[in-house]
Amino acid sequence: MDLRDTPEEAAFRAELRAWLDESLPEGLQGHRGGATRFEGPEMREWSRALYQAGYVGLTWPEEYGGGGAPYTHQAIFLEEMARAEAPPHIGVIGIGMAGPTIIAHGTEEQKARYLQPLLSAEEIWCQGFSEPGAGSDLAGVRTSSTLDDGHFVVNGQKVWSSFAHIADFCILLTRSDPESSRHAGLTYLIVDMHAPGVEVRPLRQITGEAEFNEIFFSDVRVPAENLLGEVGGGWQVAMTTLLHERGTLGFALQATLEVQIRKLVALARDRGADPLQRDRIAREWVEMQALRFTNYRSLSALMKTGMPGPEGSISKLVWSEANQRVTKLAIEILGPDGALGEENAPYGGYWQYQQLRSRGNTIEAGTSEVLRNIVSERVLGLPYSR
Ligand SMILES: Cc1cc2nc3c(=O)[nH]c(=O)nc-3n(C[C@H](O)[C@H](O)[C@H](O)COP(=O)(O)OP(=O)(O)OC[C@H]3O[C@@H](n4cnc5c(N)ncnc54)[C@H](O)[C@@H]3O)c2cc1C
Repeated sequence: MDLRDTPEEAAFRAELRAWLDESLPEGLQGHRGGATRFEGPEMREWSRALYQAGYVGLTWPEEYGGGGAPYTHQAIFLEEMARAEAPPHIGVIGIGMAGPTIIAHGTEEQKARYLQPLLSAEEIWCQGFSEPGAGSDLAGVRTSSTLDDGHFVVNGQKVWSSFAHIADFCILLTRSDPESSRHAGLTYLIVDMHAPGVEVRPLRQITGEAEFNEIFFSDVRVPAENLLGEVGGGWQVAMTTLLHERGTLGFALQATLEVQIRKLVALARDRGADPLQRDRIAREWVEMQALRFTNYRSLSALMKTGMPGPEGSISKLVWSEANQRVTKLAIEILGPDGALGEENAPYGGYWQYQQLRSRGNTIEAGTSEVLRNIVSERVLGLPYSR
C-alpha cells in the first residue's frame, strides 16, 4: 500500500481541511465528549452540518444518502477531524453499527427508510445486545421475541445500552426459539424506542454522568417487517455489527488517541514533566504510530473484501489500554492538582473526566480479555479456547 495521498486524495484532504477551518464552531473544538453532548442542540447541528457538506457516510451507497467514496477518504476524514479536534457525529451507533448492518442485511425498504435520517442526525440509534446474563458471552441472550399476528412480541431486559435515553431506534438481539441454545435461535430486530412497553432507566457511570441505560421490554409489539436477516439467523447479523463496531472504528480511535497525546504533550510543556514521564510520553507517541500502520493494514483488507476483519480487535485493544495509560500519566503530571474533583481542577477538569471515562474503554465493545482471545484465535490461528 502506498501511504502517500494520491492527487485526488490530497485534493479531498485540502478541501476538507478548509471546510473544517471555516465551519467548526469554536465552542465545540476539543469538546470532552460524554453526556454533555446531548444537552444542547449544538452537536446535532454540527452533525447535520457534516452531513450537508457530504462528510457523513462517505463510503455508503449514494442512493441512500452516502458519498460512494473509497475507504481511503473515510480514513482521511477521521485524520483531519482529529487534527482539527472536531467532535464526531452524534450518531455513533447508527453510523458505526446499525447503518453498516442494515446495508449488509437489510431489505430495500429498510435501507430506504432508515439510512438517510441516521446520517443526517434526525434519528439516533442504540444497541441492545448486552443483558445481565449475557455480555462477553453474547450467545447467552434471553430477551425473547415471539411471532404473533404479523408482529414479534418482545419481552426481557437489556443493560449498558449507550444513548438509549435519547434513541429513536434500537438494534436488538433476541431469542426467538425458546428451545434453542447458544448461537442458534437468535433473531435480530429493529425496535422503535418510542413504542408502548419500552422503558429506559439511566445508569450512572463512574464519571457521574448517565450515558448508558437499562432497557425493559414488556410485550413490545415489533412489526414483522422490522426483522433484519432471517428468523433464527440473528447471530450472523450480530457478527456483522460487532465486526463494524471494532473494525471500522480503528481510524477514529487512533485519531482520538493522537489528539489525547497532543494534549498530553501540551500539558507536559505547561506544567513540566520529569525525565521518566517524558520517556513515557515518547513511548506512547511511538506506539500510537504503530497503531496507525496496523490500521493501514486493516484498511487494505477492508478495501479488498468490503468487510472489516477480526484484526479490527487489535486497534480497539491497543487504543483502550493506551488511552488509560495516557490519562493516568496526565493526572500524574498534574501532581496534587490531579486529586481535585472535576469542578475545581485545572483545564476545566478535562483530565479528571478523561481518566474516569477511560476505565470503561477496556470493557465496552468487547473486554480486553475477549479481544485477546479473538486476536489469538482468529488472527494468529491459535487453537480455540473452547
Ligand atoms: C461504557 C460502556 C458502554 C457500553 N455500551 C453498550 C451498548 O451500547 N450496548 C450493549 O449492548 N452493551 C454495551 N456495553 C456492554 C459491554 O459490551 C459489556 O459490558 C461487555 O461486553 C462485557 O460484558 P459483561 O459486562 O457482561 O462482563 P462479563 O462478560 O461478565 O465479563 C466479566 C469479566 O470476565 C472476563 N471474561 C469473560 N469471558 C471471558 C473469556 N472467554 N476469556 C477470558 N476472560 C473472560 C471479562 O473480560 C471481564 O473481565 C457497554 C459497556 C460499557 C462499559
